[in-house]
Amino acid sequence: MGYYIGIDLGGTNIAGGVVTETGKILSKGSIPTGHGRSAKQIADDMAELAFQVAEKAGIAWEEVCSVGMGVPGTANKETGIVEFANNLGFYDEPIVKLMEERLCGKTILFDNDANAAAWGEYVAGSGKGTKNMIAVTLGTGVGGGIILNGELYEGINYAAGELGHFVIALDGKECNCGRRGCYEAYASATALIEQTKDAMKNHPDSALWKLVEGDLERTEGKTVFDALQLGDETAKQVFDQYISYVGVGLVDLINIFQPELICIGGGISKAGEILLKPLREKIEQESYTRTAKHQTRLTIASLDNDAGIIGAALLPR
Ligand SMILES: [Zn+2]
Repeated sequence: MGYYIGIDLGGTNIAGGVVTETGKILSKGSIPTGHGRSAKQIADDMAELAFQVAEKAGIAWEEVCSVGMGVPGTANKETGIVEFANNLGFYDEPIVKLMEERLCGKTILFDNDANAAAWGEYVAGSGKGTKNMIAVTLGTGVGGGIILNGELYEGINYAAGELGHFVIALDGKECNCGRRGCYEAYASATALIEQTKDAMKNHPDSALWKLVEGDLERTEGKTVFDALQLGDETAKQVFDQYISYVGVGLVDLINIFQPELICIGGGISKAGEILLKPLREKIEQESYTRTAKHQTRLTIASLDNDAGIIGAALLPR
């Protein structure tokens, strides 16, 4: 039996682990990414981390079949080049070659980090057993990945699955990508925090203020969910509006792709059923196929932060 190393290269941390062919993590490690570092320096760290996790798992380097990476940018699999990684300041970096040099000819696999995480959910998490699924991550931004007929859908530029950047409001809120009205500008955790703060300014009596001890800047994604538990009316309004935003995007995805499953990950997904129940109601009311025999299942992503490591380790070869 062979082992697979997966590395999730993030803007803040580089996480890695040894994974079995069934998606079980045997060891894990992480190191800070650091700011303004070159691709070579980051490759040094990733290689070091790969050796570390292999040692921690108690396996010989020869038993490692491949090392896979999820990188936060456009991963051109034909050339092995990260074409653009905004968070890392990478532009056309030959990351696969850099890793091959450092890891003595080991097979190196790579993909975009969101795609790798979606693949992890597909092979070993909530999507196990499906053929068509979509992973949606509601975090700082909105990300995701699309699996169609058992394959990651990459598109012509290896850039498909940018689920944060389809427009749900024409001429709407500004988005980081340069457009207006993107899904991410309404459905991300960042957006929810903004929506919560706006409502708090208009409702000084809301229990939301108690939860942040009067300090608006302490508002988090979970604040609104905590206030919901207290029966706060303002929180309920913010929540209902947020569900409408998230829901409209999910219904659009269902109408276009008809996936068997959509799994929701990211910080907001910690809310669990509180989040899923009203979203399911929206889907039941609004999806084009609401009367059809087969309905898309909606669940919480089951692997949490490990999805990126597992998915990178088990990327298709
Ligand atoms: Zn956008």
